[in-house]
Amino acid sequence: MDFITEPERKIPVVANVDLLVCGGGFAGVAAALSAVKCGAKVLLLEKYGFLGGLVTASLVITTPPLNNGINIEIADRLKKRNVYIPCRHSGPDTEWLEMRSVDPEIVKYEFIRMLQEQNVDFLLHTFIVDAITEDNVIKGIVMENKAGRMAVMAKMIIDATGDADIAAFADAPFREIKKPMTMMYNLVGIDIGKAVEYLGNWSNLKKIVKEAMDCGKISFDLGIYPDFGAPGVHAEELVYSGQLNVWSGMLHGMSGIDPWDLTKAEIITREHVMRLTAFLKKQVPGFENCRIECTSTQVGVRASRQIFGEASPKMDEVKHIKFDDTVAKPYAKSSLRLPYGCIMPQKVNNLLVAGRCISAEEEALGMLRLWPVCSITGQAAGTAAALSLKQGVMPKQLDIKILQKTLIEQGMDLGL
Ligand SMILES: Cc1cc2nc3c(=O)[nH]c(=O)nc-3n(C[C@H](O)[C@H](O)[C@H](O)COP(=O)(O)OP(=O)(O)OC[C@H]3O[C@@H](n4cnc5c(N)ncnc54)[C@H](O)[C@@H]3O)c2cc1C
Repeated sequence: MDFITEPERKIPVVANVDLLVCGGGFAGVAAALSAVKCGAKVLLLEKYGFLGGLVTASLVITTPPLNNGINIEIADRLKKRNVYIPCRHSGPDTEWLEMRSVDPEIVKYEFIRMLQEQNVDFLLHTFIVDAITEDNVIKGIVMENKAGRMAVMAKMIIDATGDADIAAFADAPFREIKKPMTMMYNLVGIDIGKAVEYLGNWSNLKKIVKEAMDCGKISFDLGIYPDFGAPGVHAEELVYSGQLNVWSGMLHGMSGIDPWDLTKAEIITREHVMRLTAFLKKQVPGFENCRIECTSTQVGVRASRQIFGEASPKMDEVKHIKFDDTVAKPYAKSSLRLPYGCIMPQKVNNLLVAGRCISAEEEALGMLRLWPVCSITGQAAGTAAALSLKQGVMPKQLDIKILQKTLIEQGMDLGL
């Protein structure tokens, strides 16, 4: 590969803040809101023109219950607008996993309102491209937007980019995980009664698509598979009748941090969506008059960089252990808990990480990437960062008892 050397140049420092939250998905929004509640002055940066991350940008609009900590506040806002609706039941032993669906447009709107009500400063349409690091401390970040290249200096940083961009820019240790990518999309105009009568259960959709593939009825020679893990081709009834959220299948082997792979993934999964929809219209009763209402703004990337943190618990541990330093318990009815070390990267001192790029063993990460977990880790990180700032210490030196007490006062049942 050839290289060029960029000429040295001065860039403006456009803000100097206590806490900088990078990324405005569920983790970032929860982190920013929780930090201001503890008295921190916060700036949040987001590359899109809206908040919500994968939930709004990639139409991941079904979720386990939002019933602990800051999630209760989010659910209440959505309930008031009738857009937090039960959509699937998983049986008595997994009652906590009863799924709800939400309306992504209302999430976008409510998140902006929540930040405004708490006086959180935020800047959209802004891509963070580098970290300014000295002696394992991040002094600030470099960002680019329509106004050019500029810097924000900060005392403390939360990386809620999902891809651990800031941790990587600052040289914190991480590994890359490649999980299948999926283009989620919404279909409308379905005769739901007719479709359910034919399918029996929405999960049978996967079977029908697979059979059609096996006997060559549809050509999905795109490297996308309907039958991988959770849940391949699948449809979920949503907030509004006649509307379906379709998980179009799994594209394997692509990197969520390689723009060439991401481009390929967008092209392939979009082609797949069109072929799948044509098949459903023609072959599945009830779908005859359906049309695509919307597709994801970007292909759904389940995982990319995963930090190596001070703790990296296994599945069994997060499911069963009451860690002395528990800082996150995502669900009221599940014993799932996370220790402080999961959000604390190694090596870089004034950085906390929240959301889908936290530290854990790979087998545990599937359940830790669900969005109620992301927002709860955001709450823990935002609160820890604000308390550290107040006490003039690095997050590693923060008294864990004070952090836990504050989280409990904020309404998080840590189950201690
Ligand atoms: C196909 C698919 C299906 C899923 N199904 C479910 C499900 O059914 N239920 C469930 O609960 N979870 C599900 N998940 C997982 C869940 O949606 C995500 O793990 C969760 O939403 C991640 O939240 P986050 O805030 O950590 O990250 P993200 O939502 O990725 O948010 C990161 C934010 O940071 C911004 N950002 C990133 N980099 C930069 C940068 N350099 N500069 C500025 N901004 C940046 C992004 O634009 C984004 O807004 C699914 C995920 C996928 C992909």
